[in-house]
Amino acid sequence: TVTVWILKEKGAGNSVLGRIAGDRFVQIVLKKDFDEKYLLDNIKILCSLMEDRIYKLHVYAGVYEIKDVNEPVQTMYDKANMAIERIKGDYNQVISYYDESDMKRLMHEKSIVAEFDKALENGEFCMYLQPQLDSRGALLGAEALVRWNHPKRGLLYPDSFIGILEKTGIIYKLDNFIWEKAAEKIKEWNAAGYEDYHISVNISAKDFYYLDLYKVLTDIVRRYGIAPKHLNLEITETVIMSDVKMHMEILDRLQKFGFQIEIDDFGSGYSSLNTLKDIKADLLKIDMLFLRETDNQERSRKILKFIITMAKALNMDVITEGVETEKQLDFLSGIGCEMFQGFYFSKPIPVDKFEDKYFQS
Ligand code: C2E
Ligand code: CA
Ligand code: CA
Repeated sequence: TVTVWILKEKGAGNSVLGRIAGDRFVQIVLKKDFDEKYLLDNIKILCSLMEDRIYKLHVYAGVYEIKDVNEPVQTMYDKANMAIERIKGDYNQVISYYDESDMKRLMHEKSIVAEFDKALENGEFCMYLQPQLDSRGALLGAEALVRWNHPKRGLLYPDSFIGILEKTGIIYKLDNFIWEKAAEKIKEWNAAGYEDYHISVNISAKDFYYLDLYKVLTDIVRRYGIAPKHLNLEITETVIMSDVKMHMEILDRLQKFGFQIEIDDFGSGYSSLNTLKDIKADLLKIDMLFLRETDNQERSRKILKFIITMAKALNMDVITEGVETEKQLDFLSGIGCEMFQGFYFSKPIPVDKFEDKYFQS
């Protein structure tokens, strides 16, 4: 009610206001009366009303300019909403203007979600492996990375679909599938006498909410009769830190069961030192981007060296990923890193190629 009052009283000129549902409101304003600053100011007033509460209010406004008055009102509303979808989650943004790319993006997202179940059923998803090695190039294990063999669009990389599947939550189905594939592979390797290699799998944030992770993962290793220490679990620090208590409770149990917990993309979030304090993981995975992204190579190198020393003091192993050159490898070995993953050794490759390369000698 407060919301309606503010919007009504302060609404611009000749405008019509309505509440669509829940916390969604629509305001139709004549173009000549539309004033971005005025809108922003009103949103600020609205938000300030909630300032003392536990929950902070954030308002997003999507603006769609009506050019064809015969367009269905529902479509107009949908388009304003699409503009919001683009900035949602970014708390630095408030107003977003619809443009044609919003429609394209939404269509793309819709088609990915619509095609997903059938694609999974049809076996269009497959597991690629990228080796993890020691400084001399001896194999230690691999990371499982998913690829989508799309019948029309060709080989799709995770960046073009993982985020979308995460948004809707159905990522858990794909993750579950890859975990099964990895476990199946480990079982096969064991039977063939390759008993020392692990496969690291990715766990996404939503998996914690959509699955009973403990049950699903322990069930997988039991069913395939493999050791949990061979199926490593990669979780990003951002995910863990989003709810340390909940995530750590589950991860602790998995760790006690025998799984190795790896902190993925360490150093790319905003809370790395806190992470180290709160999370008892077995391995820290540092991305070489840490060095690439900055002009301050020297400082980054010092920090990297310090992180490795610190991880060791906390009884954690360290792996660096994204290693592309011999120079990087030498530097990293020099400061105590003992495991590596990156294009310098190999890109992620199909499983049969991986086996040809590392198991036939
Ligand atoms: P990630 O877990 O950080 O995986 C490492 C990514 O870095 C992979 O990208 C890999 O191909 C790439 N990479 C490896 N070595 C190098 C290098 O030397 N240089 C450069 N520039 N890149 C390198 P990919 O396979 O495209 O996967 C991207 C992301 O998608 C992954 O990042 C991961 O977050 C996600 N992902 C992949 N497979 C799965 C999956 O099965 N489940 C979930 N939830 N996420 C997945
Ligand atoms: Ca990973
Ligand atoms: Ca990573």
